[in-house]
Amino acid sequence: MRSFSARLIGWQEHAGRRDLPWQNTRDAYRIWISEIMLQQTQVATVMPYYRRFLDVFPDVQSLAAASIEAVLRLWSGLGYYRRAHLLHRAAQEIVGRHGGAFPRDAATLATLPGIGRSTAAAIAAFAYGERGAILDGNVKRVLARHQGVEGHAADPAVLRALWARAEELLPRAEIEPYTQALMDLGAMVCLRSTPDCARCPVAADCVAWRENRIDELPLTRPRQPLPQREVAVLLIERGGEILLERRPPIGIWAGLWSLPEVACANDVTAYCRDRFGAEVAAGVALMPIDHGFTHFRLRLTPLPCSIAYWPTRVEDSGHSACVWLPLPEATSAALPAPIKKLLRSLATQQATV
Ligand code: SF4
Repeated sequence: MRSFSARLIGWQEHAGRRDLPWQNTRDAYRIWISEIMLQQTQVATVMPYYRRFLDVFPDVQSLAAASIEAVLRLWSGLGYYRRAHLLHRAAQEIVGRHGGAFPRDAATLATLPGIGRSTAAAIAAFAYGERGAILDGNVKRVLARHQGVEGHAADPAVLRALWARAEELLPRAEIEPYTQALMDLGAMVCLRSTPDCARCPVAADCVAWRENRIDELPLTRPRQPLPQREVAVLLIERGGEILLERRPPIGIWAGLWSLPEVACANDVTAYCRDRFGAEVAAGVALMPIDHGFTHFRLRLTPLPCSIAYWPTRVEDSGHSACVWLPLPEATSAALPAPIKKLLRSLATQQATV
């Protein structure tokens, strides 16, 4: 039987993905942006974001020179915003510490913010042909099944075993098509719940397939029900403009613009008095919006508010991280996805009245 890598490389040639916007290039910058965007995000979702991002930031210098707000605006809706913060910091390090030259090996790449061992190896493979193992979530699943690695991938001993297998299976040459093939197999064939083993190029020696243990490998922890948090978001409008507040630099949606947020509807008047020196009353709540995070679910209840008094400018109350924007313009700000969706639907409603 041909080696694991030879079968994968042969399969990739006719069945793998070959025309994605970040393929067929040796530009480490472009490859890096795609690898970061593709973490926990589907290819189809990433594509338009990737194109827009590169239109605005075609190289590491332009990204490093940009404000974090400009970066977040382009990331708005893609989720996992920490990636955008780390990407921006890494660009500044490449310019500041490496003179603007992209590091040319995986070991140096892995010292940059947001680039772990697997991502560094993928960038180095695609940009420089460096031989190194990758082990993202999909590849962990493929190797656990094919090699029959028992246990939870989060367990350090299991992770070490998976890395060891990933290293052992590396081909001596053709690292680029092999790396792409592993990614493609995990994304297109060896799927989490419905792997298409009949189409798999390495089924002949797959432990999970042979022993009919596909449901058991890799071992997954039973899902705990996610806790739910609830907040109210305030729709404060004045003269056709809506109030947005910048979120704190750490925590969920760090640094994005959003609607002012209070723990519950009863707090609105006191919150606006303390925060803005304004007199505001909450109206009738709109339909709540549910949004899922990795560790909890968030229920946002939009509350239209009426203003009895507002200081001349928000900045007068000492809060420069606030801005009034016309509704259509607000929808283009760097907003979390559910807030963007809410404002878009309000803008559409207003336009049709
Ligand atoms: S045979 Fe099935 S379970 Fe095994 S690697 Fe291929 S797709 Fe995955």
